[in-house]
Amino acid sequence: MTAPILQSKLPRVGTNVFSVMSAMAAEHKAINLGQGFPDFDCDPRLINAVTAAMQAGHNQYPLMPGVALLRQRVAAKVAALHGVQYDANTEVTITSGATQGILSAILAVVRAGDEVIVLEPSYDSYAPNIELAGGVVVPVALRSETFAPDFDAISAAMTAKTRAIIVNSPHNPSGRVWSAAQWDTLADLIAGRDIWLFSDEVYEHMVFDGAGHQSAALNSRLRERAFIISSFGKTFHVTGWKIGTVCAPAPLTLEFRKVHQYTVFTANSAMQHGIAEYLGDPQPYLTLPAFYQAKRDRFAAGLAAMPLRLLPCEGSYFQCVSYEDAPLLRDLTESECSAWLTREIGVTPIPLSAFYSIPTEQKVIRFCFAKRDDTLDAAVQRLAKLGSRDGVASR
Ligand code: PMP
Ligand code: GLN
Repeated sequence: MTAPILQSKLPRVGTNVFSVMSAMAAEHKAINLGQGFPDFDCDPRLINAVTAAMQAGHNQYPLMPGVALLRQRVAAKVAALHGVQYDANTEVTITSGATQGILSAILAVVRAGDEVIVLEPSYDSYAPNIELAGGVVVPVALRSETFAPDFDAISAAMTAKTRAIIVNSPHNPSGRVWSAAQWDTLADLIAGRDIWLFSDEVYEHMVFDGAGHQSAALNSRLRERAFIISSFGKTFHVTGWKIGTVCAPAPLTLEFRKVHQYTVFTANSAMQHGIAEYLGDPQPYLTLPAFYQAKRDRFAAGLAAMPLRLLPCEGSYFQCVSYEDAPLLRDLTESECSAWLTREIGVTPIPLSAFYSIPTEQKVIRFCFAKRDDTLDAAVQRLAKLGSRDGVASR
């Protein structure tokens, strides 16, 4: 008997660029500044809190929306930071990472044929999530180099079928951050329409140079139609733990939880209890901007002498660079350049083209600076083989 052939629901999806580049980095023993994860450990107090939770017997299913104390502390944190109240019982849900939060929110909102605007470059899970919901991805490019939203293009992309827009600030991969004025312009654009907002704020605590994080929740016109998604993986250097949060008004949360209940039911118990305990101290997340800003600055200072042009990085843990002036690189595509740097220089970036559905080449690659200082220094030392900026100038 021949087995039936399974028609792919995601025919365009292959192994994602992060896995591919991490494997390439391992194969060539390159320093992996590709996939976005810290190479240092989290605060031992957090490990102790999780261990204590397991030892205290928190090993069975927690409540479906998440451990109550964690939801209360998330609500209190948002209130303290932004002056915005979410009800811990009806408006905060703990998820298995932001990834599941984004998927469940999309599944709760998007129906067959609905259009969802995705600003590109974009994080790679959005488009397949929309397709799984039966929706149609409508890519709208951010402006090249500045990665600012092009509101005319967004407006032009809106139709009667537009059901949602996904915004990510601080932005992966560009490191750009939305201002209050930009959020307000978005609110103007979608006012009076049946359009929901998925606001991916996983890098909320990595905003630099004294600028505060502008959550979409700060804009009351957006808050009423927004799912605000975040991740403790980023905030507490535990990307492998996969614990995230989704804050949304009660009617939205009600529908969100219907999906959440039947995708994962709940997120893992001990991590939730441990994080709840650890969140009692605000210092770890309040000191995060300075911690990552120092890393951004260290890495940027190291690259300054090289024929690489740094694009502005206002937040996140990514530094994008243009290699159009680098003699050894400028004739390569972004993918070729990333592979070449991995093989020949021993440092792995991610090509920016991987974040677009429309083929794009800007001679820009992304480096992750969420790494130990000695890792960043070693990467800079290797990248010095690209020559100097002076060499380029005197060419
Ligand atoms: N959104 C963005 C923009 C990200 O960079 C990441 C990190 N991988 C995620 C969502 C997913 O976060 P998590 O690991 O909590 O699922
Ligand atoms: N968010 C990480 C990045 O952008 C990777 C997440 C993943 O590997 N799926 O690099």
